[in-house]
Amino acid sequence: MKPFTYERAASPAEAAAAVARTPGAKFIAGGTNLLDLMKLQIEAPTHLIDVNGLALDKIEPTAEGGLRIGALVRNTDLAADARVRRDYALLSRALLAGASGQLRNKATTAGNLLQRTRCPYFYDTNQPCNKRQPGSGCSAIGGFSRQLAVVGHSEACIATNPSDMAVAMRALDAVVETVKADGTTRAIPIAEFHRLPGDTPQIETALEPGELITAVVLPPPIGGTQIYRKVRDRASYAFALVSVAAVVQRDGRGRVALGGVAHKPWRVEAAEAELPRGARPAMAAILADARPTHENAFKVTLAERTLHAVLAEARG
Ligand SMILES: Cc1cc2nc3c(=O)[nH]c(=O)nc-3n(C[C@H](O)[C@H](O)[C@H](O)COP(=O)(O)OP(=O)(O)OC[C@H]3O[C@@H](n4cnc5c(N)ncnc54)[C@H](O)[C@@H]3O)c2cc1C
Ligand code: SF4
Repeated sequence: MKPFTYERAASPAEAAAAVARTPGAKFIAGGTNLLDLMKLQIEAPTHLIDVNGLALDKIEPTAEGGLRIGALVRNTDLAADARVRRDYALLSRALLAGASGQLRNKATTAGNLLQRTRCPYFYDTNQPCNKRQPGSGCSAIGGFSRQLAVVGHSEACIATNPSDMAVAMRALDAVVETVKADGTTRAIPIAEFHRLPGDTPQIETALEPGELITAVVLPPPIGGTQIYRKVRDRASYAFALVSVAAVVQRDGRGRVALGGVAHKPWRVEAAEAELPRGARPAMAAILADARPTHENAFKVTLAERTLHAVLAEARG
């Protein structure tokens, strides 16, 4: 690991300003992703700003009838919160499908949204990777791509976003609240938070340098039957090949977001009109632009069958 300096932030605005003024600085929360990347020298921050002391660890009701989840709320606490379990069961289920109990005890809401891809070549520092080293090439194209994206990818990168929580938040239309280095705040709809890779796969979100996530806001509950189904190579402690986050209403209408298929949680709102007609037409519309590799073409069928199972479960 490369040497780095460390400080504890005293306030969100100060934390944002400190990262912006210190070249190579990064925030650290639970550290469950960042420290792994530092040990492998995939990330080498010169300075760490520990945000764990900031009072951003509460889940509070909003005036609109939703919930504001502090950036530092641990995944375990969020999944177990009685209001989340009752009104946003999708989120609770997605969180519990991720990582392990120990990791969820440390992992934070903001850190989970910002965890980096699990593309095998991103972790292999002997191989070219545009995300790790812009301009070096993409080893996954023409390489081992079973886990990687089938839709929304580019000639520069075919990686997927590994977060389960983010897929549920996309289906629930969450909003990410931040504070910037100049002290101003903003609210970013989750649909605009994660980026597609394009020519700059190293830029993964809409955050500006130094911008600190302070909370994620859930809109008022939308009811319906909420199911998160994650399909993976082993029963636990593995990332999704495909996951389906669905909210299904009594009349068959609903929402669907997919994990494991793109560089961001994948939701196509226009395609949701097909849901009452069944999984096949709905998934054909959701993955209409899919361009799988020869190794991951199975994901298109798997996504349709997973949605079929989810709809069957929702309809009892
Ligand atoms: C073995 C293993 C298995 C896993 N399995 C799964 C899985 O199945 N599903 C899943 O979804 N996840 C899985 N994870 C990932 C885990 O959920 C993430 O590592 C965790 O959520 C990251 O949160 P953290 O607080 O530890 O982030 P950190 O590691 O502290 O930070 C991650 C990134 O977020 C930035 N950051 C942190 N807080 C803020 C903030 N407030 N504002 C702006 N930037 C911030 C940091 O600078 C860093 O870049 C797994 C991890 C491991 C190690
Ligand atoms: S898919 Fe993306 S992360 Fe994987 S090797 Fe290519 S550029 Fe790197």
